[in-house]
Parts: sequence; C-alpha cells; structure tokens
Amino acid sequence: MSKNIVNHCIREEVQAMSAYHIADASNLIKLDAMENPYNWPDEITAQWLETLRHCPINRYPDPVAKELCNRLRQVNSVPDQSALMLGNGSDELIQILLMALPSNASILAPAPSFVMYRQIAQSLGLEYHSIPLQADSFSLDIESMLTHIRQHQPAIIFLAYPNNPTGNLFAEDEIKQILQLSEGLVIVDEAYAPFTNASFMPYLPDYPNLMVMRTLSKLGLAGLRLGFLCGDSSLIDHLDKIRLPYNINSLTQLTARFALDHIEFLNQQTNTIRQHRDAMFNRLNALNGIHALASEANFILLKCQQISATTVFNQLKCRDILIKNLSPQGGLLSDSLRVTVGTASENEAFLSAMAQIVTTPDPSL
Ligand SMILES: *Cc1c(COP(=O)(O)O)cnc(C)c1O
Repeated sequence: MSKNIVNHCIREEVQAMSAYHIADASNLIKLDAMENPYNWPDEITAQWLETLRHCPINRYPDPVAKELCNRLRQVNSVPDQSALMLGNGSDELIQILLMALPSNASILAPAPSFVMYRQIAQSLGLEYHSIPLQADSFSLDIESMLTHIRQHQPAIIFLAYPNNPTGNLFAEDEIKQILQLSEGLVIVDEAYAPFTNASFMPYLPDYPNLMVMRTLSKLGLAGLRLGFLCGDSSLIDHLDKIRLPYNINSLTQLTARFALDHIEFLNQQTNTIRQHRDAMFNRLNALNGIHALASEANFILLKCQQISATTVFNQLKCRDILIKNLSPQGGLLSDSLRVTVGTASENEAFLSAMAQIVTTPDPSL
C-alpha cells in the first residue's frame, strides 16, 4: 500500500496508534480477561435455547430495547428519574460519550486505569490527560486531580470504581469532591459492580454531571457485549443521537433478559468468585517476594518484589497459565501482574505454579 494513500485517508493520530492486543489463549488456563469462569447449569441452558427459538431473526431488533431496559433498571436499582442508554459493551458507550465532545475538549482519568479510555480518545484525536495514582495505595492523588480540574475543566472525567487494573475503590468523599468541582461529566465506571457493595448509582439524582456505567461482561456475559449508561435524561437524549440504530441485536436483547430473569444463579457464581478472591489474596501474600493488593473486583493485582514480573508471567505461561503482564505499561505498573479469579481448580493450578516459581525461578526465562 502506498504511503500516499494511507496519508490521504488515515488521520495522523490513528496511524500513530498501536492496535489493542489480545493474547491468544488457546489451550491455556485463561486468567487474563476478568471473565466469569463458570458455565450455565444444563437446565438453564435448555430454557435459554428454547427462548431463542422464538426470536424473529428476520426482523430488526427493538430499537430502544424496552423490555431489557426495564429489567436492567430493576436489577441494578437505577433511580426512576435517571435515563438509560445501552451500548454494544461499555466500550461502545465510552466511544459514544467521546464522539459527542467538542473537538477542543479534554479528558481526564487517573493512571493506571482502564486502557480503553485513552485508546478511544486517541482514535478520535482528543486531548487526554492522566494523573498518577498514589504509588503505594493506588488511591487518587486528590489534590492534583482538583488542581487539574480547576485549570482545565475537562469535558469528561473517567473513574473506574473499582479501578481496573488495581482492583481498589477510590474514596467516596474524594469522588464527591470531584463531582462538585467539575463542570464536565464524571463517568463512574462500575464494570465490577457484581464484586463490590459500593456504588454511585444511588447518588445519580444528587449530581447532574454524574453518569454511572455498568456492563454485563464481568457478571458472566462477556460474549454478549452489553453495557449501559445511566444519567440525566437530557444528556442521554443528546448522546442517543450518536448511537447507531439497532446497536443491540435481538439475540443479545433476548439473552440478557433471560439471564436477568435468572439472576440468582449468576449471583451465586459471583459470590463464589468473591470468596475465592479473598482466599487467593491471602495465599498470594503468604508467598515470598509477592505483594497482592486487596481487591473489590474479580481480579488481583500482584507486585513482584524479587523476580521480574515478566519472568513470573513467562514461567506461568510455560505451565499453560495465562494471566496479564502489566509491566510493559511501565510507571506504577512496572513490576505488576494481574490475575483473574477462576474456578477452584484453575486458582489452585495458578497458586501452586506461583509457589514453585517464587521458590525455584528458572533464570533462563
Ligand atoms: C472490562 C471493563 C469495561 C468494558 O466492558 P465491556 O462492557 O465488556 O466493553 C469497562 N470498564 C472497565 C473498568 C472494565 O474493566
């Protein structure tokens, strides 16, 4: 392809980006992507397939997904006065939010945080600022955040709550200070809501610039791609003009409704994951040279204090276990790995491999 054609049709900032890399996990124990590791009970699967049988797949889907929105509101206790918009994953909602911004707008998020905020901002040529979290606790550097807000008044501030990849919750009163000071939107991204009791959902009526975003991905439906954004209805009405019609397909609408009608089995699964997370946290911290961070999500951040994070990552991979190596991101993550909580046997395989690796590291890796 001639360079001229590329320059003619691909914006400079897009040329400068690197693609979001997704590791090949075939034949590996997959603990890298915050997926729910459990299958559905056979009887539930049978009922689900029966539901799909009646899906009019020749027709376009319900453009506003009315039934699904009603179920989402109930299950997530969305305040009555707040409006709802659905996205093909919350990734699409982030994209819609950023596409609506004025071209000179700026975006703020702490670092490290969810990588798609920056990735999508870059793809749209928007100005993105990040402020490092505090080194030891990964809590907000609230004074720097407030100073930045006073100076720049970002159009959007993203706060993942709990944060990915650190797993902690930021202080509620600090988020409230940000909401009070900010003239722009504050998106509280609650992707990990199934694994924590904390939420800003009840505060939606108190702050006109607050939006709460959630997804079904981490609950156990990552394959569906369904996220939702809750907030002031006049804001949602504008954002909705950018959303492509029929972005939520009929199979997703039916499947999500079915799953929410059977939420009990998913809640049992996420409760089990919470228990296994806490057990895994204790066992990791008992290992020499490993520091695990307390987590309110379905993953744990590990700091490697003696062997390099990349060595630990590679040695796990040799044992057919895939986790996420965060150390290439540098900064506060230069010695860090992230592991998703899996099934009991997957966790056991991971923990016993970790015990071997920290006691007898293979220096060739
Ligand atoms: C996983 C994740 C998302 C993306 O969720 P999808 O709905 O699968 O697109 C959004 N925010 C955070 C913080 C996440 O970790």
